[in-house]
Parts: sequence; C-alpha cells; structure tokens
Amino acid sequence: MTLPEHDPQRPPVFLREREPSERTEQAYPPLPEALVVPVYDNHTHLEIAHGSDPIDFHEQLDRASAVGVRGVVQVGTDLETSRWSAEQAAREPRMLAAVALHPNEAPVYAEAGGLDAALAEIAELASWPRVRAVGETGLDFFRTETEAGREAQYRSFEAHIEIAKENGIALQIHDRDAHAEVITTLKRVGAPERTVFHCFSGDAELASICAENGWYLSFAGNVTFKNAHNLREALETAPRSLLLVETDAPYLTPMPYRGRPNAPYLVPHTLRAMAAHLGTDVSMLAAQISSNTELVYGRWEDEPVQAS
Ligand SMILES: [Zn+2]
Ligand SMILES: [Zn+2]
Repeated sequence: MTLPEHDPQRPPVFLREREPSERTEQAYPPLPEALVVPVYDNHTHLEIAHGSDPIDFHEQLDRASAVGVRGVVQVGTDLETSRWSAEQAAREPRMLAAVALHPNEAPVYAEAGGLDAALAEIAELASWPRVRAVGETGLDFFRTETEAGREAQYRSFEAHIEIAKENGIALQIHDRDAHAEVITTLKRVGAPERTVFHCFSGDAELASICAENGWYLSFAGNVTFKNAHNLREALETAPRSLLLVETDAPYLTPMPYRGRPNAPYLVPHTLRAMAAHLGTDVSMLAAQISSNTELVYGRWEDEPVQAS
C-alpha cells in the first residue's frame, strides 16, 4: 500500500459537501459532559463538510477524545471515500476504517460497467491492517426502486460479504426498508462471524432475529427521537453483549440537537439516552459497549499507524 504525501499543516480538506437539500446553516452543538468510561463511535463519515462552520477530522477526533469517545470507525461509501478512509486510518491512531460501495452507489457503478473493477479495489483496500470492516453495504429499497438497480445491490452485497469473510473482518450492514431481504441474503451467502446492523432501524422482532444469529445492533442518534418507540423496544430486546453505538455523522444528530450537524463527540447523548431507557448505569453500559466494539473491530492500538 502506498500513501499520498501528508502535510499536517494543510488546511482542512473535505471530500464531500452534504446534499444541498439536507444542508443546514446551523452550527455544531456544544461539547457534552465527558463520559467517565469511554466508548467508540463505530460508524461515522468525517469526510463530509457540514454546518455553518465545518470541522476538520483532526479537530473532530480531538473533540471526541475530550468527552470520552476514544476512537471512530470511519466509513467509506464509494471508491474515493473508501480510499480516503483507509489512508487516514493508516496514520491516525484514533481511527479505524471500513470500506465499501454503499447500496445506493452499487447501481451507479453497475450502470457505468465498473462494478466488478470497483469491487476488486474494495477487496484490495480490505486487506490493509487498519481496515477492520467491510461496509457500509447491504440493501436500500427506499432509494433504489428499479429492478436493475436492486440486482446490482444484491450482487454488490454478496461480494462484500465474501470480502469480509476472506479478510476475517467485520461486516457493517446498511439496511433500509429491506429487513427480510437482508436476512435472507445473509443466511444464503453465510454471514461473517462479526456482522453489524449499522443505524439499526428495525423493531423488537428484528432485534430477536439478530440475537438468535449473534448479529450486532448499532444504535444511532435516532434512538433518542421522541417517536422512535420501535427502536427503543429493539434496544430492550437485544442482549447487552450485542449492543454498539454510533453517530452516522453528519446525519441523525441525537436529541436535544436534532437538526444541527452531528459529530462523534455527540455520542454521549445517545449513550446516556440508551442507559436511561434501559434503567442502567451509564458507565456500566459504556464498559459493555466498549468491550463489544473491541471484539468486533479489534483494538484501535493493535496495529501501529504509519509515520507520515
Ligand atoms: Zn447507512
Ligand atoms: Zn453511514
């Protein structure tokens, strides 16, 4: 693997802007009270600039450290962001990477005739030591409605499952309006040993199916939303040993800051809401989730970073 030149003095660089329709001119929320027992944000997109005053990923990680969020899994959604995620994780001790073509990107590559070549590059990136998950992959029937598009999603999802198994790393699943089809595919192809439903969006029934299969449920800020009763029922149903927490930043900002930009340093709000709902101590839940996270992705410090 070869890394491009890195200049720490360089001004913040963002690969992406949020979609104009989703952009907010609001500012990032203040830092919450620090956690006593630290956790990780196991799913974030720090390459996306957002809000009135976007925050560079180094500062994002500093803010996270300041409130007890020890590290993040930076997630790619196409070739460009997957490469960026792998490259940054290779030199940043607080970052591990996940690489994949998002289910909404797979049809775009397929239409251009480049899906197989793109999957081959994802397979190469997945072998890097600080790339610890293949994701986010899965099925999204909300935004992809054509049959050809869904066919590409299936082909891509199945290939990603194989890549995760070949490399012995975790799988991060994006499942939107496709619970039954995701489960069927996992069972048909054979799920990797460590499989995570990122931004868990199911109910108690899906939580029970995850529990039976030993699949992890990663809860995002939407578990704090007032109307998210189904997510909180799922949270109650899931074994504590399968719980994870994430931001999916810059999306899904937890209460009380819904509508403002999201960031890993806001994980404490989600964790505290989860603990309150479960009637458990925040530090006990944090310790459990941290240990679950390290079982899924390995330890952040296991593989030393490359000098820049
Ligand atoms: Zn997703
Ligand atoms: Zn995501």
